[in-house]
Formats: sequence, C-alpha cells, structure tokens
Amino acid sequence: MAKVIAVANQKGGVGKTTTSINLSAALAASKRSVLVIDLDPQGNATVGAGLDKFNLPASVYDVLMNEQSIENAIVETPFSFHVLGANDDLTAAEIHLLDLSKKEYRLRDLLRSIQDLFQYIIMDCTPSLNILTVNALVAADSVLIPMQCEYYALEGLAALIKTIENIQQYLNPKLKIDGLLRTMFDARNGLSNDVSRQLIEHFEGKVYRTVIPRNVRVAEAPSHGEPIISYDPRSRGALAYLGLAGEIIRRSERKLLAQRAGQQSNNAPNQAVGSNT
Ligand code: ATP
Ligand code: MG
Repeated sequence: MAKVIAVANQKGGVGKTTTSINLSAALAASKRSVLVIDLDPQGNATVGAGLDKFNLPASVYDVLMNEQSIENAIVETPFSFHVLGANDDLTAAEIHLLDLSKKEYRLRDLLRSIQDLFQYIIMDCTPSLNILTVNALVAADSVLIPMQCEYYALEGLAALIKTIENIQQYLNPKLKIDGLLRTMFDARNGLSNDVSRQLIEHFEGKVYRTVIPRNVRVAEAPSHGEPIISYDPRSRGALAYLGLAGEIIRRSERKLLAQRAGQQSNNAPNQAVGSNT
C-alpha cells in the first residue's frame, strides 16, 4: 500500500514542485515505485518530468471529474516514475468540484484503486489552500513542507500548521506532518542559519536532517524536462535529493517493518503452549 505524501506550503516559490519531481526521481532511482500527482494548473511538475502538458492522454482534471479512469491518465516518464499530469484545465476543477458531493474526498476515493500499484504517491500542491490542496491533504498520510530559511518563514509555518490541524480534526484524522525540508539553503547566510536553528528548536524530530542547498543546476533542470539526478547526477542538488529519498525510505519503511514484525509475532504460535520441552 502506497505512502501518500502531500508536498505543501501556502507560501509560493519555496521549492514544492522542485522537491516533488526530484524526490520522486530519487525514490525511483532507489528502486521504489512512485507516482507524482500534479495538483497545480501551472503544470510545472508535469513539464519538469519531461511531459508535454498539452498532450496528455488525460489530465488530473478529467480524473477528478470522472471523465477518465485514473489508470488511463497515468503516464510513465523516462525517469522510472509515473505522473498524473495537469494543465490549465485544472483551474476549472476549483469551480466544478464545489458542485459535487463529498468534494473534499474526491482524490482520496480515486486513489483507492491504485494504492497497491505504487510504494510512494507524491502530490505537488499549489501555493494556496484551495479545494485541490484540501483534496491532497485529505488523501495524504503525511505532509512534507518545503521551506526557505527566511525571516517570515516561521510566521507562515504557524498558519500552515493550523490548517493541517483543522484537516486532522474535521477531515483526515490520520494526517501527520512528515517533515520540514530546508530548501535553497545557503550556509554562508547568517540569517538562514539562525532560522534553521530556531526551526530545529521548535520542531525537533520533524525537521529532515537533509538540507537542500541552493544550486543553479537544480534551477536549470526543469527547462530541460529532467530531474536533477538525470540532468547533473554529480551536482550538490542531486546528492541532496538522493539523501532526502534515503532519509524518507529509512523513516517510513522502518515503521512498516516494525509493524509487520509486530503482526508476525502476534500470529506466531505460542511456543510454550502445548510444548513438551
Ligand atoms: P509555486 O508556489 O509557484 O508552486 P514552488 O513552491 O513549487 O512554487 P519551485 O517552483 O519548486 O517552487 O521553485 C521556485 C524557484 O526556485 C524555481 O525557479 C526553481 O527552479 C528554483 N529552485 C528550487 N529549488 C532550488 C534549489 N535548490 N536551488 C536553486 N534554485 C531552486
Ligand atoms: Mg509549484
């Protein structure tokens, strides 16, 4: 069953799309089966994965509106991960979804049929708390929050955490914050280091150990329709996203293994009972 992660922050330009694509490519390079769902009408994740957003077999809009099956809309990329793509059509979903019943649960219900086809489903959200982002947070097991270590970052974070708590309370009680990811980090900048320290103080285990450095190669890669590990595998950006994938795999799969071990020991016959020794 897939681990479903929403990459969200209502602040714009913090690295949500960059992280969705590059984390997915890095997970795929680690032999994990991955689906990226682009929930932004800008379609940046779709383009960043090397797809033509105006030439998709079907888009996430068609799927949300029940005009196409999700299986027909998923496309394989040359980078060993799959994409459910988006384009400008998705703008209309914000209006049309409002007329539908159970509008917040639409995506969650659609993912049921493909949950077992992937190990990770990564959803790239828009920088606003619209009905598409609410759908992502309702469908997700956890949220990955990319953030730049800037002066106003902590303020914005408080608002986002309040939103996540509301979703937990009313729509998705199992939703967790998987982690805060420091993006576009410049270790020479004193303010970035201060904000980073405060973040670790306030959120302790919730801050990923991996830091994504500011790296011009990461910014160039989408215009070539490639993730960074394909565009420049030896760049600092590529190594950082591989590190993040490793960290996420260790965290989430360790829990899974522990759960399975627990189940096995519960199912194991009790050696002492009926034993002659
Ligand atoms: P939006 O809120 O508009 O969806 P976003 O949060 O998805 O934005 P991105 O589009 O991923 O943010 O990144 C914003 C800009 O920063 C892009 O031009 C991207 O190429 C650049 N960028 C992202 N990460 C890095 C990095 N590590 N180093 C250098 N540039 C980066
Ligand atoms: Mg984006």
